Order: sequence, then C-alpha cells, then structure tokens
Amino acid sequence: MTERGVSDKLGRPLRDLRISVTDRCNFRCTYCMPKEVFGHEYQFMERAELLTFEEIERLSRIFVSHGVGKVRLTGGEPLIRRDVDRLVEMLARIPEISDLAITTNASLLASKAQRLKEAGLRRVTVSLDALDDETFSAINDVGFPVARVLEGIEEAAQVGLGPVKINCVVKRGVNEHAVLDLAHHFRGTGHIVRFIEYMDVGTSNGWRLDDVVPAREIVTKIQAEMPIEPVGKNYTGEVAERYRYADGSGEIGIIASVTQPFCQACTRARLSADGKLFTCLFASIGHDLRALLRNGTSDEEIHDEIGRIWGRRDDRYSEIRSSQTESLPRVEMSYIGG
Ligand code: SF4
Repeated sequence: MTERGVSDKLGRPLRDLRISVTDRCNFRCTYCMPKEVFGHEYQFMERAELLTFEEIERLSRIFVSHGVGKVRLTGGEPLIRRDVDRLVEMLARIPEISDLAITTNASLLASKAQRLKEAGLRRVTVSLDALDDETFSAINDVGFPVARVLEGIEEAAQVGLGPVKINCVVKRGVNEHAVLDLAHHFRGTGHIVRFIEYMDVGTSNGWRLDDVVPAREIVTKIQAEMPIEPVGKNYTGEVAERYRYADGSGEIGIIASVTQPFCQACTRARLSADGKLFTCLFASIGHDLRALLRNGTSDEEIHDEIGRIWGRRDDRYSEIRSSQTESLPRVEMSYIGG
C-alpha cells in the first residue's frame, strides 16, 4: 500500500470520509426521518449488522492510505451508538487523520462533550433548524427543546470543541424565519451557522423544488439586517459558501447543493453503518466492504478494491438534478449520514 492518492474520473482525489455509525436516531426530523416511514414498525439494523469499532478503524486506515485526512462521524445520531468515544479514541490514534469531527443533533452532547474531547475529537457540527420550540419541535417531531441543544453547544465550546458549526436546513413554509433568528443569536459568539438548501436526499421526505429557499434569498434576508460580504473558501472542496459580517462579528455559511452545485470539487466518500461505500450522497448503490472485512480478504486487496471503486467514480448528481433524476432510487440520509 504505497501510493497515497487515488483520483476519480473527474480528477477528484479521495480526501474526506464520512462514517455513519448507526442508522438509528432519537429525533424524527421531517426532512430526513419522517415518522410515517420510520415509525414503530421500522426495522433498524441489528448490532451484528453494524461494523464493529475495530472494523471501522481497519477501514479508516485503508482509506487513509488512499489520501483521506478528514473523517467525520455521522448517523442517524452518532452519539446514541454506545461507547462511541472509544471509536473516537481509536481513530484519533491514526496520525494521517488531521481532522476528526462529528455531526450530531446535540441531544446528548452536553453530557458527552468532555469525554469526546479527551478521546481526541477535534470538532463538532450541530444540527439546529430553528430557535423557537414550536418550530423546532415540529421539525424534530419528538418535542425536543431548543434549550438542551444550546446547552450542548455551550458545553462543547467550554471543553474546547468550539467554534461549533451549526447546520440549519431551510425549508419554505417551515422555518424561513429561523434564518434571521439563528444569525442574530450566534452572531458575535464565534460559532458559525450554515444554512443548507433543502435537498432531495433519499426518497421519503417528499422533496419538491418549490420548498427550496435558494441561497441568494437567504443572503438577501441577512444582508437586509446585518451586512455581510463573501470570503474565500478555507480549502478546496469546502461545501459552504462563506460570508463574514461587515462589522467583523463573525461569519456564516451557505450550503447551496441545489442552486449552486459543488460536485466538481467533491472529495467525499461515505460509509454506511453496515459497511457499504457510497461515492455520492444521492447514490442508489453502495459497495459492500463489510463482506470483504469478514471473509478474510487482505487489507491490500480491500485497498485495491476501494481504489477501483473511486477510480470509476463520475458522480455529480447535483449538477444533473432534473425531473429525470427525481425518480431514481436514492439512499436515505439517515442511513449514510448526510
Ligand atoms: S451531489 Fe454527490 S458528487 Fe455532488 S457534491 Fe454531493 S455528494 Fe458530491
């Protein structure tokens, strides 16, 4: 395993690995895990189906040998996977992983932040789609209060996992008002709110283009009250368009996958909790790496297989999104963690 860097058909290197550690979540966000689909009857994966921490570590070392330097743990809700801090510890020991982060709904963050920091976690991204309980409860659909999410954000900052990135999915007719609420609330705190255009991930959220609030409309809304100016990306492949407040009181981000696709610089691979490799968030097929891990295949052979999969990659779903693509089967967000 000498070569450290494989590129796909569009010349994009493999740099980022998003690892879903569970398909379960304690929220039922309507744009991701609607109760009508993910109700009491829904069959979540059994423990034996999930990759063990040792298997995740083994795969991460193989991905690192392909050039991955950033690893993000996702879900479902990653903090509900028991002892996830132990996994953080195992991954933090891999020297080539320069950035180890987690995306969470923060429902358990206040109680786990210190341990995660000690385990070697670098950064936290928190999903928070509104600042008022009425709207937030309607979206998370389990009546979870905003105050406990804010507590988690503060605790993460306290223990040194800040500045925290806060992701807000903006859906027309649901939480447009949250754009200004969140911008005002987090301005001057050092935390960075990223407003995400509502996406047609999976096939269970009833996505319509009419429900998308375009990035330019979000910028205009904020500009009208708090002047902002665009700033360059921190690195190639960064998904957010960055803006800073003209008065220097911080920045926001906009993730505009629908109106300003960023596929040309997409260096992200995704691993589902049962060990399937997906080369795009909107993919419909995953490549089963768990079978290779469990049938005696060597690391060398798995390395070569991942290289072949990435080398054949030509995904650019957001660029080709159209009425034709709408009918394509797509993997669920809660399964590969966004
Ligand atoms: S649509 Fe697929 S290829 Fe495009 S940025 Fe998203 S994950 Fe990458």
